[in-house]
Amino acid sequence: MADLLMLKCGELVLKGNNRKSFEDKLKNNLKWALKKYGRFEIWSAQSTIYVTPKESGADMEGAFEVSKKVFGVATISPAYRAEKNFEDICRVAKEKMAARLENAETFKVEAKRADKKFPMKSPEICALLGGVLLESFKNLKVDVINPQVTVNVDIREEYAYIYCEKLQGAGGVPSGTSGKGLLLLSGGIDSPVAGWMMARRGLKLEAVNFFSYPYTSERAKEKVIELARLVSEYSGRIRLHIVPFTDIQLAIRDNCPEEYLTIIMRRFMTKISEIIAKQCGASVLITGESLGQVASQTLQSMVVTSSVTDMLILRPLSGMDKIEIMDYARKIGTYETSVLPYEDCCTLFVPKHPDTKPRMERIELAEKKLDFDGLVKAAVEETKVIDVS
Ligand code: ATP
Ligand code: MG
Repeated sequence: MADLLMLKCGELVLKGNNRKSFEDKLKNNLKWALKKYGRFEIWSAQSTIYVTPKESGADMEGAFEVSKKVFGVATISPAYRAEKNFEDICRVAKEKMAARLENAETFKVEAKRADKKFPMKSPEICALLGGVLLESFKNLKVDVINPQVTVNVDIREEYAYIYCEKLQGAGGVPSGTSGKGLLLLSGGIDSPVAGWMMARRGLKLEAVNFFSYPYTSERAKEKVIELARLVSEYSGRIRLHIVPFTDIQLAIRDNCPEEYLTIIMRRFMTKISEIIAKQCGASVLITGESLGQVASQTLQSMVVTSSVTDMLILRPLSGMDKIEIMDYARKIGTYETSVLPYEDCCTLFVPKHPDTKPRMERIELAEKKLDFDGLVKAAVEETKVIDVS
Protein backbone atom coordinates (compact mmCIF):
# COMPACT_ATOMS: atom_id res chain seq x y z
CA MET A 1 0.00 0.00 0.00
CA ALA A 2 1.02 3.57 -0.55
CA ASP A 3 3.12 5.76 1.79
CA LEU A 4 0.49 8.48 1.90
CA LEU A 5 -2.78 9.66 0.39
CA MET A 6 -3.14 12.86 -1.59
CA LEU A 7 -6.68 14.15 -1.71
CA LYS A 8 -8.00 16.84 -4.01
CA CYS A 9 -10.81 18.97 -2.69
CA GLY A 10 -13.72 19.32 -5.07
CA GLU A 11 -15.91 22.37 -5.01
CA LEU A 12 -13.89 23.87 -2.17
CA VAL A 13 -11.73 25.76 -4.59
CA LEU A 14 -14.77 27.63 -5.84
CA LYS A 15 -15.67 29.07 -2.49
CA GLY A 16 -13.44 32.15 -2.33
CA ASN A 17 -13.01 33.46 1.17
CA ASN A 18 -14.78 30.52 2.72
CA ARG A 19 -12.19 28.19 1.39
CA LYS A 20 -10.08 28.03 4.52
CA SER A 21 -12.98 27.22 6.82
CA PHE A 22 -14.19 24.60 4.33
CA GLU A 23 -10.76 23.04 4.23
CA ASP A 24 -10.51 23.05 8.02
CA LYS A 25 -13.88 21.35 8.30
CA LEU A 26 -12.85 18.77 5.75
CA LYS A 27 -9.63 18.05 7.64
CA ASN A 28 -11.59 17.66 10.87
CA ASN A 29 -14.07 15.31 9.22
CA LEU A 30 -11.17 13.28 7.83
CA LYS A 31 -9.52 13.15 11.21
CA TRP A 32 -12.72 11.81 12.73
CA ALA A 33 -13.13 9.20 9.99
CA LEU A 34 -9.50 8.07 10.22
CA LYS A 35 -9.47 7.66 13.99
CA LYS A 36 -10.20 3.93 13.82
CA TYR A 37 -7.26 3.24 11.54
CA GLY A 38 -4.36 4.60 13.58
CA ARG A 39 -2.64 7.96 13.97
CA PHE A 40 -2.30 10.12 10.89
CA GLU A 41 -1.00 13.55 10.12
CA ILE A 42 -3.30 15.61 7.93
CA TRP A 43 -2.17 18.82 6.32
CA SER A 44 -2.99 20.82 3.24
CA ALA A 45 -1.11 22.82 0.66
CA GLN A 46 -2.22 24.19 -2.69
CA SER A 47 -5.70 22.65 -2.59
CA THR A 48 -4.30 19.19 -1.87
CA ILE A 49 -4.75 17.43 1.47
CA TYR A 50 -1.98 15.07 2.51
CA VAL A 51 -2.64 12.13 4.81
CA THR A 52 0.48 10.45 6.16
CA PRO A 53 0.70 7.77 8.86
CA LYS A 54 2.29 8.89 12.13
CA GLU A 55 3.02 5.36 13.32
CA SER A 56 4.10 2.15 11.64
CA GLY A 57 0.94 0.24 12.64
CA ALA A 58 -1.41 2.68 10.91
CA ASP A 59 -3.77 0.94 8.48
CA MET A 60 -3.31 2.69 5.12
CA GLU A 61 -5.72 0.36 3.36
CA GLY A 62 -8.44 1.23 5.87
CA ALA A 63 -7.57 4.91 5.62
CA PHE A 64 -7.90 4.74 1.85
CA GLU A 65 -11.31 3.03 2.00
CA VAL A 66 -12.72 5.44 4.57
CA SER A 67 -11.42 8.51 2.72
CA LYS A 68 -13.70 7.52 -0.15
CA LYS A 69 -16.66 8.28 2.12
CA VAL A 70 -15.67 11.75 3.22
CA PHE A 71 -17.63 14.49 1.47
CA GLY A 72 -15.67 17.30 -0.11
CA VAL A 73 -12.98 14.95 -1.47
CA ALA A 74 -13.04 14.92 -5.29
CA THR A 75 -10.14 12.55 -5.98
CA ILE A 76 -7.83 10.30 -3.97
CA SER A 77 -4.32 9.42 -5.06
CA PRO A 78 -2.30 6.79 -3.21
CA ALA A 79 1.23 8.25 -3.40
CA TYR A 80 4.83 7.30 -2.70
CA ARG A 81 7.59 9.28 -1.08
CA ALA A 82 11.03 9.84 -2.59
CA GLU A 83 14.06 11.72 -1.29
CA LYS A 84 14.53 15.05 -3.00
CA ASN A 85 17.10 14.04 -5.53
CA PHE A 86 16.57 12.93 -9.11
CA GLU A 87 18.01 9.43 -8.58
CA ASP A 88 15.60 8.59 -5.82
CA ILE A 89 12.67 10.05 -7.77
CA CYS A 90 13.57 7.74 -10.68
CA ARG A 91 13.94 4.74 -8.38
CA VAL A 92 10.56 5.25 -6.75
CA ALA A 93 8.81 5.95 -10.06
CA LYS A 94 10.24 2.81 -11.65
CA GLU A 95 9.49 0.60 -8.66
CA LYS A 96 6.15 1.86 -7.50
CA MET A 97 4.53 2.74 -10.81
CA ALA A 98 5.70 -0.52 -12.45
CA ALA A 99 2.37 -2.35 -12.17
CA ARG A 100 0.63 0.43 -14.12
CA LEU A 101 3.41 1.19 -16.57
CA GLU A 102 4.01 -2.45 -17.54
CA ASN A 103 0.41 -2.73 -18.71
CA ALA A 104 0.13 0.55 -20.57
CA GLU A 105 1.04 1.66 -24.06
CA THR A 106 1.21 5.40 -23.55
CA PHE A 107 2.21 7.68 -20.69
CA LYS A 108 3.47 11.10 -19.75
CA VAL A 109 5.16 12.67 -16.75
CA GLU A 110 3.73 15.74 -15.07
CA ALA A 111 5.85 17.59 -12.52
CA LYS A 112 4.99 20.35 -10.05
CA ARG A 113 7.55 22.19 -7.99
CA ALA A 114 6.27 23.79 -4.80
CA ASP A 115 9.88 24.02 -3.63
CA LYS A 116 11.43 26.44 -6.11
CA LYS A 117 14.88 25.72 -4.66
CA PHE A 118 14.85 22.25 -6.16
CA PRO A 119 17.64 22.37 -8.80
CA MET A 120 15.61 21.00 -11.72
CA LYS A 121 12.68 22.85 -13.25
CA SER A 122 9.42 21.04 -13.93
CA PRO A 123 9.84 20.59 -17.72
CA GLU A 124 13.30 19.18 -17.12
CA ILE A 125 11.98 16.66 -14.59
CA CYS A 126 9.30 15.60 -17.08
CA ALA A 127 11.75 15.17 -19.95
CA LEU A 128 14.46 13.35 -18.00
CA LEU A 129 12.19 11.09 -15.95
CA GLY A 130 10.21 10.36 -19.13
CA GLY A 131 13.45 9.23 -20.77
CA VAL A 132 14.34 6.98 -17.82
CA LEU A 133 10.92 5.34 -17.84
CA LEU A 134 11.07 4.79 -21.64
CA GLU A 135 14.39 3.01 -21.09
CA SER A 136 12.95 0.76 -18.40
CA PHE A 137 9.57 -0.04 -19.96
CA LYS A 138 10.04 -0.91 -23.60
CA ASN A 139 6.27 -1.22 -24.09
CA LEU A 140 5.75 2.52 -23.54
CA LYS A 141 5.41 5.50 -25.85
CA VAL A 142 4.96 9.10 -24.80
CA ASP A 143 1.57 10.70 -25.45
CA VAL A 144 1.23 14.12 -23.88
CA ILE A 145 -2.32 14.70 -25.14
CA ASN A 146 -4.16 11.55 -24.11
CA PRO A 147 -1.89 9.21 -22.13
CA GLN A 148 -3.15 6.02 -20.50
CA VAL A 149 -0.98 6.70 -17.46
CA THR A 150 0.19 10.02 -16.06
CA VAL A 151 3.10 9.81 -13.62
CA ASN A 152 2.84 12.84 -11.33
CA VAL A 153 5.82 14.19 -9.45
CA ASP A 154 5.10 16.73 -6.73
CA ILE A 155 8.23 18.34 -5.27
CA ARG A 156 7.50 19.69 -1.78
CA GLU A 157 9.58 21.02 1.09
CA GLU A 158 10.29 17.69 2.79
CA TYR A 159 10.00 15.08 0.08
CA ALA A 160 9.01 14.43 -3.49
CA TYR A 161 5.70 12.63 -3.90
CA ILE A 162 4.92 10.38 -6.83
CA TYR A 163 1.58 8.96 -7.93
CA CYS A 164 -0.29 7.92 -11.02
CA GLU A 165 -3.82 7.15 -9.86
CA LYS A 166 -6.68 9.55 -9.33
CA LEU A 167 -9.62 7.68 -7.89
CA GLN A 168 -13.00 9.22 -7.47
CA GLY A 169 -13.85 10.50 -3.99
CA ALA A 170 -17.31 11.01 -2.50
CA GLY A 171 -17.69 14.50 -4.01
CA GLY A 172 -20.03 17.08 -2.55
CA VAL A 173 -19.01 19.53 0.16
CA PRO A 174 -17.79 18.79 3.71
CA SER A 175 -20.55 17.88 6.15
CA GLY A 176 -21.16 20.75 8.52
CA THR A 177 -20.32 23.57 6.15
CA SER A 178 -23.96 24.17 5.20
CA GLY A 179 -25.47 24.07 8.69
CA LYS A 180 -27.46 21.38 10.46
CA GLY A 181 -30.50 19.36 9.39
CA LEU A 182 -32.76 17.02 11.32
CA LEU A 183 -33.42 13.81 9.38
CA LEU A 184 -36.70 11.96 9.92
CA LEU A 185 -35.18 8.50 9.91
CA SER A 186 -37.47 5.49 9.60
CA GLY A 187 -36.29 1.93 9.13
CA GLY A 188 -37.05 2.08 5.40
CA ILE A 189 -34.96 2.38 2.26
CA ASP A 190 -35.57 6.03 1.52
CA SER A 191 -34.74 8.13 4.54
CA PRO A 192 -31.10 6.95 4.98
CA VAL A 193 -30.50 7.86 1.33
CA ALA A 194 -32.12 11.28 1.87
CA GLY A 195 -29.81 11.89 4.87
CA TRP A 196 -26.75 10.82 2.92
CA MET A 197 -27.67 13.19 0.08
CA MET A 198 -28.07 16.21 2.30
CA ALA A 199 -24.88 15.43 4.25
CA ARG A 200 -23.15 15.37 0.85
CA ARG A 201 -24.37 18.91 0.30
CA GLY A 202 -22.74 19.99 3.54
CA LEU A 203 -25.35 19.45 6.25
CA LYS A 204 -24.40 18.10 9.62
CA LEU A 205 -27.09 15.60 10.62
CA GLU A 206 -29.12 14.80 13.66
CA ALA A 207 -31.91 12.25 13.30
CA VAL A 208 -35.30 11.61 14.81
CA ASN A 209 -37.15 8.30 14.91
CA PHE A 210 -40.73 7.71 16.01
CA PHE A 211 -41.03 4.52 17.90
CA SER A 212 -44.22 2.77 18.99
CA TYR A 213 -43.25 0.28 21.64
CA PRO A 214 -44.49 -2.46 22.10
CA TYR A 215 -46.07 -2.42 18.62
CA THR A 216 -42.62 -1.93 17.19
CA SER A 217 -39.93 -4.15 18.68
CA GLU A 218 -36.48 -3.57 20.19
CA ARG A 219 -35.07 -5.11 17.03
CA ALA A 220 -36.78 -2.43 14.94
CA LYS A 221 -35.05 0.17 17.11
CA GLU A 222 -31.68 -1.58 16.71
CA LYS A 223 -32.23 -1.48 12.96
CA VAL A 224 -32.75 2.29 12.99
CA ILE A 225 -29.64 2.76 15.14
CA GLU A 226 -27.65 0.66 12.67
CA LEU A 227 -28.97 2.75 9.76
CA ALA A 228 -27.93 5.93 11.56
CA ARG A 229 -24.51 4.39 12.12
CA LEU A 230 -24.15 3.51 8.43
CA VAL A 231 -25.05 7.07 7.40
CA SER A 232 -22.64 8.43 10.05
CA GLU A 233 -19.75 6.76 8.21
CA TYR A 234 -20.27 9.50 5.65
CA SER A 235 -21.72 12.34 7.65
CA GLY A 236 -19.87 12.07 10.96
CA ARG A 237 -21.46 11.37 14.34
CA ILE A 238 -25.26 11.47 14.38
CA ARG A 239 -27.31 12.25 17.46
CA LEU A 240 -30.48 10.16 17.24
CA HIS A 241 -33.63 11.30 19.05
CA ILE A 242 -36.05 8.47 19.76
CA VAL A 243 -39.59 9.72 20.27
CA PRO A 244 -42.16 7.49 21.98
CA PHE A 245 -45.09 7.53 19.58
CA THR A 246 -47.48 4.89 20.91
CA ASP A 247 -49.81 7.22 22.80
CA ILE A 248 -50.18 9.49 19.80
CA GLN A 249 -50.90 6.64 17.42
CA LEU A 250 -53.49 5.15 19.78
CA ALA A 251 -55.14 8.52 20.30
CA ILE A 252 -55.43 9.03 16.53
CA ARG A 253 -56.74 5.51 15.99
CA ASP A 254 -59.37 5.91 18.69
CA ASN A 255 -60.57 9.41 17.81
CA CYS A 256 -60.07 10.19 14.13
CA PRO A 257 -61.65 8.90 10.90
CA GLU A 258 -59.73 5.93 9.59
CA GLU A 259 -58.87 7.43 6.21
CA TYR A 260 -56.97 10.26 7.93
CA LEU A 261 -54.83 8.14 10.27
CA THR A 262 -51.64 8.34 8.27
CA ILE A 263 -51.85 12.00 7.36
CA ILE A 264 -52.56 13.07 10.94
CA MET A 265 -49.72 10.87 12.15
CA ARG A 266 -47.41 12.61 9.67
CA ARG A 267 -48.49 16.00 10.97
CA PHE A 268 -47.58 14.95 14.50
CA MET A 269 -44.20 13.71 13.29
CA THR A 270 -43.54 17.00 11.55
CA LYS A 271 -44.55 19.16 14.51
CA ILE A 272 -42.47 17.12 16.98
CA SER A 273 -39.52 17.18 14.60
CA GLU A 274 -39.77 20.96 14.32
CA ILE A 275 -39.54 21.31 18.10
CA ILE A 276 -36.59 18.94 18.36
CA ALA A 277 -34.87 20.71 15.46
CA LYS A 278 -35.19 24.06 17.23
CA GLN A 279 -33.82 22.55 20.43
CA CYS A 280 -30.76 21.10 18.71
CA GLY A 281 -30.02 24.03 16.41
CA ALA A 282 -31.08 22.39 13.15
CA SER A 283 -32.62 24.79 10.67
CA VAL A 284 -34.24 22.32 8.27
CA LEU A 285 -36.08 19.01 8.35
CA ILE A 286 -35.18 16.25 5.90
CA THR A 287 -37.48 13.42 4.85
CA GLY A 288 -37.25 10.51 2.45
CA GLU A 289 -40.54 11.32 0.75
CA SER A 290 -40.87 10.85 -2.98
CA LEU A 291 -43.75 12.42 -4.86
CA GLY A 292 -46.57 9.99 -5.51
CA GLN A 293 -44.82 6.97 -4.01
CA VAL A 294 -47.63 6.19 -1.54
CA ALA A 295 -50.92 7.78 -0.44
CA SER A 296 -49.26 9.96 2.18
CA GLN A 297 -46.82 11.32 -0.42
CA THR A 298 -49.22 12.79 -2.94
CA LEU A 299 -48.74 16.49 -3.51
CA GLN A 300 -51.81 17.34 -1.47
CA SER A 301 -50.73 15.08 1.40
CA MET A 302 -47.34 16.74 1.49
CA VAL A 303 -48.94 20.18 1.54
CA VAL A 304 -51.21 19.24 4.43
CA THR A 305 -48.30 17.63 6.30
CA SER A 306 -46.01 20.62 5.81
CA SER A 307 -48.60 23.11 6.97
CA VAL A 308 -48.01 22.33 10.66
CA THR A 309 -44.61 24.01 10.47
CA ASP A 310 -42.94 27.06 9.00
CA MET A 311 -39.64 25.25 8.94
CA LEU A 312 -38.15 24.38 5.57
CA ILE A 313 -38.55 20.67 4.76
CA LEU A 314 -36.01 19.25 2.31
CA ARG A 315 -37.16 16.22 0.34
CA PRO A 316 -34.14 15.35 -1.77
CA LEU A 317 -35.80 12.21 -3.17
CA SER A 318 -39.02 13.91 -4.19
CA GLY A 319 -38.19 13.70 -7.88
CA MET A 320 -36.65 10.24 -7.91
CA ASP A 321 -38.04 6.83 -8.83
CA LYS A 322 -37.92 3.99 -6.32
CA ILE A 323 -35.47 2.06 -8.50
CA GLU A 324 -33.01 4.96 -8.46
CA ILE A 325 -33.38 5.35 -4.71
CA MET A 326 -32.69 1.63 -4.25
CA ASP A 327 -29.57 1.91 -6.40
CA TYR A 328 -28.30 4.67 -4.13
CA ALA A 329 -29.13 2.61 -1.03
CA ARG A 330 -27.04 -0.26 -2.40
CA LYS A 331 -24.21 2.05 -3.35
CA ILE A 332 -23.98 3.65 0.08
CA GLY A 333 -24.44 0.34 1.88
CA THR A 334 -27.76 0.87 3.69
CA TYR A 335 -29.97 -1.34 1.51
CA GLU A 336 -29.32 -4.68 3.23
CA THR A 337 -30.19 -3.24 6.62
CA SER A 338 -33.22 -1.32 5.33
CA VAL A 339 -34.85 -4.45 3.92
CA LEU A 340 -34.68 -6.39 7.21
CA PRO A 341 -38.32 -7.22 7.92
CA TYR A 342 -38.93 -5.35 11.18
CA GLU A 343 -42.05 -3.26 11.48
CA ASP A 344 -42.06 0.54 11.48
CA CYS A 345 -44.64 2.66 13.27
CA CYS A 346 -46.00 3.70 9.86
CA THR A 347 -47.09 0.15 9.17
CA LEU A 348 -49.36 0.09 12.24
CA PHE A 349 -53.00 1.06 11.92
CA VAL A 350 -52.77 1.61 8.18
CA PRO A 351 -56.12 2.75 6.76
CA LYS A 352 -57.67 0.47 4.13
CA HIS A 353 -58.62 3.48 2.02
CA PRO A 354 -56.34 6.39 2.88
CA ASP A 355 -57.42 9.78 1.60
CA THR A 356 -55.00 10.71 -1.17
CA LYS A 357 -56.41 14.23 -1.52
CA PRO A 358 -56.87 15.32 2.09
CA ARG A 359 -58.63 18.66 2.60
CA MET A 360 -57.00 20.88 5.17
CA GLU A 361 -60.26 21.91 6.94
CA ARG A 362 -61.33 18.30 7.38
CA ILE A 363 -57.99 17.26 8.81
CA GLU A 364 -57.95 20.21 11.19
CA LEU A 365 -61.51 19.40 12.25
CA ALA A 366 -60.57 15.76 12.90
CA GLU A 367 -57.60 16.86 15.01
CA LYS A 368 -59.91 18.90 17.25
CA LYS A 369 -60.85 15.58 18.86
CA LEU A 370 -57.28 15.32 20.14
CA ASP A 371 -55.18 17.34 22.53
CA PHE A 372 -52.67 17.94 19.74
CA ASP A 373 -50.36 20.28 21.65
CA GLY A 374 -50.48 18.23 24.85
CA LEU A 375 -49.63 15.00 23.03
CA VAL A 376 -46.77 16.73 21.21
CA LYS A 377 -45.40 18.17 24.44
CA ALA A 378 -45.51 14.83 26.26
CA ALA A 379 -43.74 13.02 23.39
CA VAL A 380 -40.99 15.64 23.25
CA GLU A 381 -40.46 15.39 26.99
CA GLU A 382 -40.12 11.61 26.86
CA THR A 383 -37.68 11.65 23.94
CA LYS A 384 -34.41 9.77 24.49
CA VAL A 385 -31.12 10.57 22.84
CA ILE A 386 -28.42 8.21 21.55
CA ASP A 387 -25.13 9.31 19.98
CA VAL A 388 -24.38 7.03 17.05
CA SER A 389 -20.97 6.63 15.44
P1 ATP B 1 -38.72 5.18 4.14
O1 ATP B 1 -38.22 4.15 3.22
O2 ATP B 1 -37.73 6.28 4.39
O3 ATP B 1 -39.32 4.61 5.38
P2 ATP B 1 -41.23 5.16 2.91
O4 ATP B 1 -41.26 5.08 1.45
O5 ATP B 1 -41.47 3.93 3.69
O6 ATP B 1 -39.89 5.88 3.36
P3 ATP B 1 -43.12 6.51 4.54
O7 ATP B 1 -43.14 5.39 5.47
O8 ATP B 1 -44.39 7.08 4.03
O9 ATP B 1 -42.29 6.25 3.26
O10 ATP B 1 -42.31 7.68 5.21
C1 ATP B 1 -42.01 8.87 4.53
C2 ATP B 1 -40.95 9.62 5.31
O11 ATP B 1 -41.40 9.96 6.61
C3 ATP B 1 -39.71 8.76 5.54
O12 ATP B 1 -38.84 8.80 4.45
C4 ATP B 1 -39.14 9.41 6.77
O13 ATP B 1 -38.40 10.56 6.44
C5 ATP B 1 -40.37 9.79 7.55
N1 ATP B 1 -40.72 8.71 8.49
C6 ATP B 1 -41.59 7.71 8.32
N2 ATP B 1 -41.66 6.91 9.41
C7 ATP B 1 -40.81 7.41 10.30
C8 ATP B 1 -40.40 7.05 11.63
N3 ATP B 1 -40.90 5.97 12.23
N4 ATP B 1 -39.51 7.82 12.25
C9 ATP B 1 -38.98 8.90 11.64
N5 ATP B 1 -39.31 9.29 10.41
C10 ATP B 1 -40.21 8.57 9.73
MG1 MG C 1 -41.26 3.84 5.87
